[in-house]
Amino acid sequence: MSTDGLGTGPWSARRVIVVGAGVVGLSCAVRLLEDGHRVDVVARDLPRETTSAVAAALWYPYLAEPRERVLGWATRTYAALAEIAAADPDAGVRLREGTELRREAARAPWWAAAVPAYSRAGSLPPGYATGWSLAVPVVETPVYLGWLTARLEALGGTLTRLNLSALPPGAPDTVVVDCSGLGARLLGADRSVTPVAGQVVVVEQVGLDRWTLAEDDRGPIYVVPRSRDVVVGGTEDHGEWSRTPSPATAEAILARATALVPELGGARVRQHRVGLRPARPEVRLEHDPVRPDVVHCYGHGGAGVTLSWGCAEEVARLVGPVGRHVGRHARGS
Ligand SMILES: Cc1cc2nc3c(=O)[nH]c(=O)nc-3n(C[C@H](O)[C@H](O)[C@H](O)COP(=O)(O)OP(=O)(O)OC[C@H]3O[C@@H](n4cnc5c(N)ncnc54)[C@H](O)[C@@H]3O)c2cc1C
Repeated sequence: MSTDGLGTGPWSARRVIVVGAGVVGLSCAVRLLEDGHRVDVVARDLPRETTSAVAAALWYPYLAEPRERVLGWATRTYAALAEIAAADPDAGVRLREGTELRREAARAPWWAAAVPAYSRAGSLPPGYATGWSLAVPVVETPVYLGWLTARLEALGGTLTRLNLSALPPGAPDTVVVDCSGLGARLLGADRSVTPVAGQVVVVEQVGLDRWTLAEDDRGPIYVVPRSRDVVVGGTEDHGEWSRTPSPATAEAILARATALVPELGGARVRQHRVGLRPARPEVRLEHDPVRPDVVHCYGHGGAGVTLSWGCAEEVARLVGPVGRHVGRHARGS
């Protein structure tokens, strides 16, 4: 087969191996299957064991750069998640109203262009200068990751547990999509991906419908209601690798959140969890410069859910439609 990246046969690059089964890998896999590619997902951790399963997960562009690209991906994802919420009530996605509170005075949120509507919040708690009220998709990740997996399988894709020590080697007509999150430190030898640990407390539903997002001296505070529980966070520990929840931190999270949302007082705790956000100075979404048969898509920080469909669509553009070659494959490199 020709490897010049131009005049190859009509069925080149039909096989895609997606590495990673978090929200980014599964979204890319589904999008590529919808385009007609043959897709196999391999991952060390299955969907419910990933960082994605810990996410709160509110649509909100947080800890992800660069802003111009993030805004485009977030806009696209908002629309895609809203469509899913409207089309399938069992997908684990719901548009919910809520409020973001900011300590500084601001004329408009930087992400304003990504949402259909927002307004200034009426009354603000002490210490906050600005509040934005808006409806955003809230994703119940344990349900949604299952829904994505079912969609992957219904479209003919596969999901296999495999702990890789390197990205799969180049093979004819095969593209590798690297959605390994923090795993890119090893698989992509990319030391610029670092963990930002986030601890959450999952409490029983206490009749909450609205989400709240704020920050205080100790970091982010969020209260995200789901169908049967409420995710309360959080922390943002840069460079921290431990996934062991701290009881003292959990107590502080609940106290800080209850100060903003008094209904949480006395709510029964169901679960303590810590996830490691795959942070990077910038999300990496590009062809590998040495191996053009590899498309990287990782480093989504605190916004993997928020950027998932926008990134998946860009990955699909880089892979190209069925029947068009995506670039030279590097055998065994
Ligand atoms: C507490 C907390 C709250 C959050 N809240 C939100 C939120 O409200 N909204 C939002 O958008 N985002 C939120 N996030 C961020 C979000 O969870 C991440 O951005 C997202 O999970 C990243 O997805 P991913 O698919 O890239 O990575 P992951 O979910 O980490 O998946 C990576 C995949 O790669 C696989 N992999 C890695 N190394 C290897 C290897 N060597 N071999 C094979 N497979 C490998 C893993 O096993 C896994 O399957 C939150 C995160 C945390 C921790």
